Amino acid sequence: MSDTLAALLQEGRTFPPPEAFRKNALITDAAIYDEAEADWQGFWARQALALSWSEEWHTILDWELPFAKWFVGGKLNAAYNCLDRHVAAGHGDQVAFYWEGEPGDSRELTYAQLLDEVSRTANTLKSLGVTKGDRVAIYLGMVPELAISMLACARIGAPHSVVFGGFTAQSLKDRINDAEARVLVTADGAFRRGSVVALKEIADDALAGTPSIEHVVVLRRTGNDVEMQAGRDQWWHDLVPQQSADCPCEEMDAEDLLYILYTSGTTGKPKGIMHTTGGYMTQVAYTHKYVFDLHPDDDIFWCTADCGWVTGHSYVVYGPLANRTTSVIYEGTPDYPDKDRFWSLVEKYRITTFYTAPTAIRTFMKWGDDLPAKHDLSSLRLIGTVGEPINPEAWVWYYKVIGGERCPVVDTWWQTETGAIMISPLPGATICKPGSATFPLPGIEADIVDDAGNSVPIPGGGYLTLTRPWPSMLRGIWGDPERYRKTYWARFDGKYFAGDGAKRDEEGYYWLLGRVDDIMLVSGHNISTTEVESALVDHPNVAEAAVVGRVDDTTGQAIAAFVILRGGVEANDALAAELRAHVAQLIGPIARPKTILFTDELPKTRSGKIMRRLLRNVAEDEALGDTTTLADPSVVDGIKSRYLSAQPTDDE
Ligand code: ATP
Ligand code: MG
Repeated sequence: MSDTLAALLQEGRTFPPPEAFRKNALITDAAIYDEAEADWQGFWARQALALSWSEEWHTILDWELPFAKWFVGGKLNAAYNCLDRHVAAGHGDQVAFYWEGEPGDSRELTYAQLLDEVSRTANTLKSLGVTKGDRVAIYLGMVPELAISMLACARIGAPHSVVFGGFTAQSLKDRINDAEARVLVTADGAFRRGSVVALKEIADDALAGTPSIEHVVVLRRTGNDVEMQAGRDQWWHDLVPQQSADCPCEEMDAEDLLYILYTSGTTGKPKGIMHTTGGYMTQVAYTHKYVFDLHPDDDIFWCTADCGWVTGHSYVVYGPLANRTTSVIYEGTPDYPDKDRFWSLVEKYRITTFYTAPTAIRTFMKWGDDLPAKHDLSSLRLIGTVGEPINPEAWVWYYKVIGGERCPVVDTWWQTETGAIMISPLPGATICKPGSATFPLPGIEADIVDDAGNSVPIPGGGYLTLTRPWPSMLRGIWGDPERYRKTYWARFDGKYFAGDGAKRDEEGYYWLLGRVDDIMLVSGHNISTTEVESALVDHPNVAEAAVVGRVDDTTGQAIAAFVILRGGVEANDALAAELRAHVAQLIGPIARPKTILFTDELPKTRSGKIMRRLLRNVAEDEALGDTTTLADPSVVDGIKSRYLSAQPTDDE
């Protein structure tokens, strides 16, 4: 990091909302927190009124721990809220999605066109026998038909289960079988980094073992040859266009299931998280509006997440459409055809609001400042991040190089389970500190507790918990209520346990510290992976880092670091020693990594998160655990062989 930046961070520099942004922001003072606290259930009920209900609820919350029902007795339809009501209000010609294919083709869908397509697709599903409550699996790349299929399901009350298009046949099969889906929507293929991923071929392997599937709808996207099984498989283009564009919305109970989505599997076997209609829609619309300071007539919103993840559900589809947003969807990877594709999209579509993941930001840093510099990014007015803790170094880079020091950065903490953003700045009101997700949003209550479940006083750290129900909370794990109770509600009495460690500083700001399973115990001190990794990334030669604790005879655990260097930097023992000293200087000698292994890649999930449990297996020379959610399984084997042959040693 440059000396000036280092100095700024050392001084604890804070970042208030930039003045020009604040002038037009929806929320500019903190009164909303008090308003929400004064009557939190009433607060959520007022947010729910932003939706259209065909029948209003009689009870805001029915809470029988751990089972919540929100807006009991209320009736609504998610697709109606995303489409029909905007068209009825005269916004049919507003663009809902600008879609850009990876090869450079593009499409534009207005709200009226999207409603038309969704209705035809909904009628198609009905014609295949899908009725309310039936599950539909969706296995597609990021094409408009992915959002269309999700909304078509919502329209007829059939819960969808979207499976990320990068998953293998085995993962698809497991998810289809777990949800017992009746129909699968897929495509011949998907474009990814210039080549074709043969989705239908992969799906065929899965379908050999999925007895619940009766019909498969196949979209033609890439034009590769596919086998169509008579009686089961039909082309999208043979079915959908001939259907009527009139499909009445199924009236759904607030607590009817909207979808099932499996978690990313960073820590273990994925869980089928259930989200229902009324509370989920309320909180995604509320958070999308206020965290992204949405101005629906002016903004062009781009959330780069795939709809295979919860971020795509909540902030590509349901939140933005509920708020009548114009969004961009991009099919491909950031490095195709060149490493500046994202910035060329920002420039092309004049994107105002950009939401991505720390893994992407660290990659852009590694690729260099000259790529964003080639493009006019002046349309941006707000930028955000989600998925992992963001290292302060990466936060400041994002703020300066992408945001031009004009855009607030919203670091949003949430989970598949929470359904929507929980801890985040309000961009027009909150003074940010790089690396901190700041505060629970108005309406949300969190706490940090110790082993015994007692609240840890400020300042202090421990386990992150949520201390009362929230509208978009998961309603359970599909088919496994016991696992639901055990995973989230058994650790601390009456509190939801998020699985993440966190601390609060003197001013009560929340700092996420990584998964509690990953927290290291060195000579009796808890040390967070996030803090050590951020200290490593703070060094100018380091692009990315992951650390784990491994068993050590003298200290209990010793810190093993895996480090990716920036381009052109030579890996050697002197640099390893320098990095160890750097960490010791920033955090303290106790946090000094015992070993440093330089590597070109880190094991990541398909959603781009570092999988530390596999690195721990490597560091302890154990058999690797479940690797099905790993993006590239060969990465761990590579690291493993080098770790064992060239294990650097501690000389202090
Ligand atoms: P699994 O639960 O199957 O292991 P996962 O936890 O990676 O997978 P997600 O629901 O996609 O699945 O991710 C939520 C997790 O991501 C959070 O619990 C947290 O660890 C991390 N996370 C998300 N946003 C942030 C953030 N802004 N800061 C820090 N961590 C974050
Ligand atoms: Mg999780």
